[in-house]
Amino acid sequence: MTVNVFISADMEGVCGIRHWEQAEPKLMDYELGREWMALDVNAAVEGALRAGATRIVVKDAHNEANNIRPDKLHPAAELISGWGPLSSMVEGVDESFDAVFLVGYHARACTDRGTLAHTWSSNVLELSLDGRPIGEAFWSAAFAGHFGVPVAMVTGDDLLKAQVEEELPPGVHYVITKTGMGHKCARLRPPADVREEIRDTAAAALDGVEGLTPLRTEWPATLSIRFRHWEHLSAVEAIPGVRRTGIDSFACTPSDMVEAQRYFITMHRLGRPPQ
Ligand SMILES: [Zn+2]
Repeated sequence: MTVNVFISADMEGVCGIRHWEQAEPKLMDYELGREWMALDVNAAVEGALRAGATRIVVKDAHNEANNIRPDKLHPAAELISGWGPLSSMVEGVDESFDAVFLVGYHARACTDRGTLAHTWSSNVLELSLDGRPIGEAFWSAAFAGHFGVPVAMVTGDDLLKAQVEEELPPGVHYVITKTGMGHKCARLRPPADVREEIRDTAAAALDGVEGLTPLRTEWPATLSIRFRHWEHLSAVEAIPGVRRTGIDSFACTPSDMVEAQRYFITMHRLGRPPQ
């Protein structure tokens, strides 16, 4: 039997990280942050191998998606570096995979105390589907669910855990990497303990993968977005199928998750304030 695992790696929920200085290229502690990110991902790879994984693909899904150095990644894993045409955090996943891990994820925008909480960028205050606020973990799970692949494990802070329990199908294994205390403040668990738990949890999550359900959402659905910066949004109005619902808000009705991803990324790109 083959077991194929897809790992989507973000950075804000990685153990030890609690500040943008550690998560943005060119800032002071970024080299440390990217090293820690690879260590959390490698722990997940090791756990997957222990459970018999035969193919492991890691998608770098933070910032420019070039944080994990290929020479720092576990040699049993392949690396998707950079953003694909859909700019999805799980782009590359397909029906051939048995499970997805979301490593280093974070709570959605406007989550009080959520460590570096946001949704895609600081310009999004809310993303919702049929009126339900959703975050990046839901969004990735829904994209993987489009291909019938369930999320088996998520790692991040305690506030993301609460959102995962609310948004994702039951049974997802979770590793708390830290306790959120403020946007840039967290009580950090000892890294060695966290990585040991990631290893054990990844293995346990794969052992129970048959019992997991992919996240299937009903389509067509109403995808709504509310921006932080309302001043320069007229270009978003020009997207066919997108309607302006307020000074800072837009909605559209995609017919499936891939189309939803296209809408989201286009609205976000055109809604970006001028530099
Ligand atoms: Zn990120």
